[in-house]
Amino acid sequence: MDIPILKNNIEAICEKIENAAIASGRKRDDIILCAASKTRTVEEISESAKLGIDMFGENHAQELEVNFDAGAYLGKPASFIGHLQTNKVKKVVSRAELIQSVDSIKLADAIDSAAEKHGIIQDILLEVNIGGEFSKSGVFPEELCTLLEHASQKDHLRICGLMTIPPICPEDEARGYFAKMRELFEKAQAHNGGNIDLKILSMGMSADYCAAILEGSTMVRIGSAIYGPRNYNK
Ligand SMILES: *Cc1c(COP(=O)(O)O)cnc(C)c1O
Repeated sequence: MDIPILKNNIEAICEKIENAAIASGRKRDDIILCAASKTRTVEEISESAKLGIDMFGENHAQELEVNFDAGAYLGKPASFIGHLQTNKVKKVVSRAELIQSVDSIKLADAIDSAAEKHGIIQDILLEVNIGGEFSKSGVFPEELCTLLEHASQKDHLRICGLMTIPPICPEDEARGYFAKMRELFEKAQAHNGGNIDLKILSMGMSADYCAAILEGSTMVRIGSAIYGPRNYNK
């Protein structure tokens, strides 16, 4: 991808983030820009790392491994945002500063023991299926409390917030889901203390990140608006 285009895209996104942040009583630096780098090359990723990306998000353990080990992120933090199978946890724990997609007790347990082996405390977000869709990952809102309580017992986890991917819908409809998520986030913050320190609300992608910020998102995960359309056939 053309570097000037990449630069323009990221500048335009940062400006929109700033405007939405201000409109919601915050500032640009209150919002973390996480680049969703699935399918992108090491070169594309490292060029974008020079241009105002705060963090990277990978969907596949294999891509995280390749990109991290190649130094593609130029020292910027990496996170994991995809569905994580327990047998891939080992690859992810040593590389991702933040695992955004924890949605089961089994996965929380697997991450905790991998983190213990590495002698670290792993930062995680709990993923919520805010639209209640059967085909989607994430816990249903009514299951969140149980997962939060379970994870709070784990010595090698720090629960830093919540993440969601709303149903595919127009931005104004998505805004309703973001508002629900924010309510849930604020309720869950009543549990802060011990290893629960909920301050990240990760929501908003290319099509709807402004709406998400207006509803209180503190982290947006953006792919195609940064790098252009994805090509899965490469
Ligand atoms: C791909 C992806 C994104 C970014 O999607 P875009 O629409 O390309 O911005 C965000 N979050 C997750 C979990 C993703 O898999």
